[in-house]
Amino acid sequence: MTQPNEEISALPPGAGSARLDLPELYQCVHCGLCLDQCPTYRVLRLEPESPRGRIHLVKAVAEGRIEPNQRFAEHLDLCLMCRACETACPSGVHYGRIAEAARALLGPPRWPGRALALLCFRHLLPYPTRLRWMASVLRLYQRSGAQRLASRLVPRRIREMESLLPAVPARFFSPSSEIFPALGERRTRVAMLSGCVMSTLFGAVNEATLSVLRLNGCEVVIPRRQTCCAALNLHNGETMMAKRMARKNIDAFLAAGVESVIVNAAGCGAAMKEYAHLLRDDPEYAAKAERFSSLVKDASEFLWELGLALAPRRVELRVTYQDPCHLAHAQRIRSQPRALLRAIPGLEIVEMAASDRCCGSAGIYNLTHPDMSQELLREKMQAIAATGADVVVAPNPGCMLQLDYGARRYGPKIKVLHLMDLLGQSYGAAGPA
Ligand code: SF4
Ligand code: SF4
Repeated sequence: MTQPNEEISALPPGAGSARLDLPELYQCVHCGLCLDQCPTYRVLRLEPESPRGRIHLVKAVAEGRIEPNQRFAEHLDLCLMCRACETACPSGVHYGRIAEAARALLGPPRWPGRALALLCFRHLLPYPTRLRWMASVLRLYQRSGAQRLASRLVPRRIREMESLLPAVPARFFSPSSEIFPALGERRTRVAMLSGCVMSTLFGAVNEATLSVLRLNGCEVVIPRRQTCCAALNLHNGETMMAKRMARKNIDAFLAAGVESVIVNAAGCGAAMKEYAHLLRDDPEYAAKAERFSSLVKDASEFLWELGLALAPRRVELRVTYQDPCHLAHAQRIRSQPRALLRAIPGLEIVEMAASDRCCGSAGIYNLTHPDMSQELLREKMQAIAATGADVVVAPNPGCMLQLDYGARRYGPKIKVLHLMDLLGQSYGAAGPA
């Protein structure tokens, strides 16, 4: 994005949105079929750390039987928001909506300090320009030798948190124009989300996505006035700011006059498909949000429906695929990315065990709950190692960061790529070689 979005006005401290009159709470029939799909229950075997237990607690708060106290908050905070319980649930319980509403009641998380959380959710994420400034400072810190020097002085806990960070790339995603014509015959006009983390840490993936779309006959609009999707705000109880960001995106993308809005980050796509629910009571935006959400498509979902106009060329690699939670469980997209991988000749695709189990990234969860996160990551890296793959494909920035860290810390020494990287590579387009 080339323009800032600075007009999202500041929220008063403590502003949240508390509403627990959810019909979803009464859909749970306590069958327990979700329990063994829940990563936190699998590790701890405790009812309050299961979806059923958490729903029970939220219902008790909604009915005034218990207070939303610190212990209640801890049970909710330990949830990864991976939504594996929704896939398992025969009653169609929207656990994610229940958890988001409960977190809105509690306000921003207590770690790493409410002030830091508010700074991040209210003053950084909604403003792409500020985020880039932060990333530039971090890049300078990493490249100037200051990080090496500091690593001898800071406590072990800080060093561990720092090691989760990737090297900030030399270039951010800064498209030279707002509209990019299709390469070859024009088949449709789409818009693309730049994303906050994607455009700062994974600019090459955005370049590859843009190239793949254009090579497949898409005229691509990258609206300058778009902002972050607000997924992290939503998951952390910052509902009012999330609504403001959603309205801004709706205005920016609907004005682009496109047939689809393409998203290459699973978590962002899941959040944007939920704008219709988020703004359902907004008299001005409810209908617009409905229309907007119906246009949102994950890049793999879109390309598979459209059909590849250009046949991918050979790429000789052994590849395994990690289902991002917000693609497999929240958007129910599993077959399309695999079908696109199979369309690349030369790729040998090996399935890992439990590919749709959370890797422990979950937004900022790997910072807020390092023990649980590391437990899940170790298990994931073992599953990846068993495939003997050269590359693990994970179309979501959080998973890519976590798996890259996992490869450095636990092995195997495997390359982590986005699906668009591989498609771009097979077309000889932008993206890591
Ligand atoms: S979202 Fe994931 S971690 Fe949370 S209750 Fe459901 S399955 Fe468990
Ligand atoms: S599977 Fe669904 S209905 Fe059964 S306990 Fe879990 S959330 Fe409730």
